[in-house]
Amino acid sequence: MSDFDETFDFVVVGSGGGSMCSALAMRAKGKSVLVIEKTPLIGGTTARSGGVMWIPNNRFMKRDGVEDSTEKSITYLESVSGGRNDTPGSTADRRRTYVEQGTKMVDFLVEQGIKLTRVAYWPDYYDEQPGGSEPGRTVVAELFNVNELGPWKEKLRPNFMTIMAPLDEMMKLPHIKKSWESKRLAAKMVLRTAFAKLTGKHYITAGGALQGRMLQASIKAGVEFRTDTAVKELIEENNMVTGVVIIENGKPRRIGSHLGVLVNAGGFSHNQAMRDQYQPGTQAKWTNTAEGDTGEIIVEMMRHGAAIAQMDEMVGNQMSLPPGTENDPVKPVVQGNTAAPHAILVDQSGVRYMNEAGSYMAYCKGMLARNRDVPAVPSWAIMDSQFMKQYMLAGSMPGSKKPANWFESGFLKKADTIEELAGMIKVDPATLRATVDRFNGFAAKNHDDDFNRGDRAYDRWLGDPFHDKNPSLGAIEQGPFYAMEVVPGDVGTYGGVVTDAHARVLREDGSVIEGLYATGISTASVMGRVYPGAGASVGPSFVWGYVAAEHALAATA
Ligand SMILES: Cc1cc2nc3c(=O)[nH]c(=O)nc-3n(C[C@H](O)[C@H](O)[C@H](O)COP(=O)(O)OP(=O)(O)OC[C@H]3O[C@@H](n4cnc5c(N)ncnc54)[C@H](O)[C@@H]3O)c2cc1C
Repeated sequence: MSDFDETFDFVVVGSGGGSMCSALAMRAKGKSVLVIEKTPLIGGTTARSGGVMWIPNNRFMKRDGVEDSTEKSITYLESVSGGRNDTPGSTADRRRTYVEQGTKMVDFLVEQGIKLTRVAYWPDYYDEQPGGSEPGRTVVAELFNVNELGPWKEKLRPNFMTIMAPLDEMMKLPHIKKSWESKRLAAKMVLRTAFAKLTGKHYITAGGALQGRMLQASIKAGVEFRTDTAVKELIEENNMVTGVVIIENGKPRRIGSHLGVLVNAGGFSHNQAMRDQYQPGTQAKWTNTAEGDTGEIIVEMMRHGAAIAQMDEMVGNQMSLPPGTENDPVKPVVQGNTAAPHAILVDQSGVRYMNEAGSYMAYCKGMLARNRDVPAVPSWAIMDSQFMKQYMLAGSMPGSKKPANWFESGFLKKADTIEELAGMIKVDPATLRATVDRFNGFAAKNHDDDFNRGDRAYDRWLGDPFHDKNPSLGAIEQGPFYAMEVVPGDVGTYGGVVTDAHARVLREDGSVIEGLYATGISTASVMGRVYPGAGASVGPSFVWGYVAAEHALAATA
């Protein structure tokens, strides 16, 4: 190697999900690692996220007596993601490796002292498919006392949830009016928070807990971090990536890497030009990803010959924007709103067009696909007063008085009849009436003949478990009636460079760019064009980060 200002065994670009996982694997074998992060904060969108990892056949399922296996998990992935020739990120080899290495990756993290567990019930998003799992395959971090990070606490990117409660408790809160268990959990949260304050603890949850724990373990293991430092270029010598260029004090600085460079620099959600090129009709202003998600390292890898794929895919997340939230870093998502009873989604002609209880990725894909034929961006959520009394809406609590400016600004429309509501959203009254009547007929007979909403365990889980007949179906019949715009927001893009089963970046001709690894949403997803279950972004980021480190280490054996 030549002409470097400094050199490490392994260099990681970005501090996302897989970064610290690969760094820990490197440190476990005594290798020096530098993680370079361009923003002032460590953790990426992963730290902001739910922190859920979709890891089939994990040790916590075994602990809880939940049946799963490598073959069952592969069967599932094959059934939802397999059989396509336009998803080179999702080859059979990579799907198998994902399942096999995911199990090992979780075991490795536990050995490193990362406290993980699973959410007891979170169905796969296509649980009805062969190999699907109703109890779910989600791995999450236990609550983390962020004060344990000491001065590094300020460096951790904050999560969007501030309640000191694990996800499974939080997800039961909306049922507080109906469930004694939810009331008990709410009381537990209050006590936990009070006790934490008295004892000088500050528990963080979800992706914050995951990345907080990863950061703590990484610091302890001696991983080096450099924040406020953008990687500008990859250095290639003799057809091999051997380092990166950063800018320090206005001057380029060359950092060498003996075992390779791992790119974990996120996707391109905030890059409108890339969105226009690869995902026309989608908007950077509707993303909830962290601000560093700007795609330039994907472009830099392309400059070195990397193949790209699945660039038209994003992990959509249906979103509504009450006045004043347009510029919030995390805008209100309405996942589940139209999956609950007494609500539907219609296009701008007043027609229902999908199973509103599908995965958020499928939901937003549905909106964008519909929009090619009939204006459907935005679409309208239509709800009745039973819905408003019982369910959350755009971050507001069930039954709560909605802010006056929601109505004044036209964000939320309210009318005594469906026909009047139709007029307010400029839809033909007879069409909306017919749509609602048809849906009410399905609710009455407890089956959605058009889209089978409520048939899957996942649909019902998104709905209301206390609703009498079907947790996802209920008539829209009691006025006043409401309408709210829904747009296809996102929590990340899903395409990027093509990698092999060792997380090595490939050229168009399938050859390997030696020394260059990539993980997370900088890559074309191993899941192809679907979201198989909760955690299908963070899970792969960790798994391929681990796989990359193991491969790079094997070269030294
Ligand atoms: C609110 C919310 C909740 C979510 N919940 C979940 C969930 O529970 N489970 C799930 O699977 N997915 C979830 N997602 C999606 C998921 O969080 C992201 O897709 C995932 O975290 C991306 O991880 P990553 O490791 O690829 O990148 P990131 O975690 O985004 O990390 C990439 C890092 O690279 C840095 N970077 C970029 N360019 C450079 C450069 N040139 N030089 C140096 N650094 C650079 C960025 O600043 C960033 O810090 C959620 C997203 C949101 C917004």
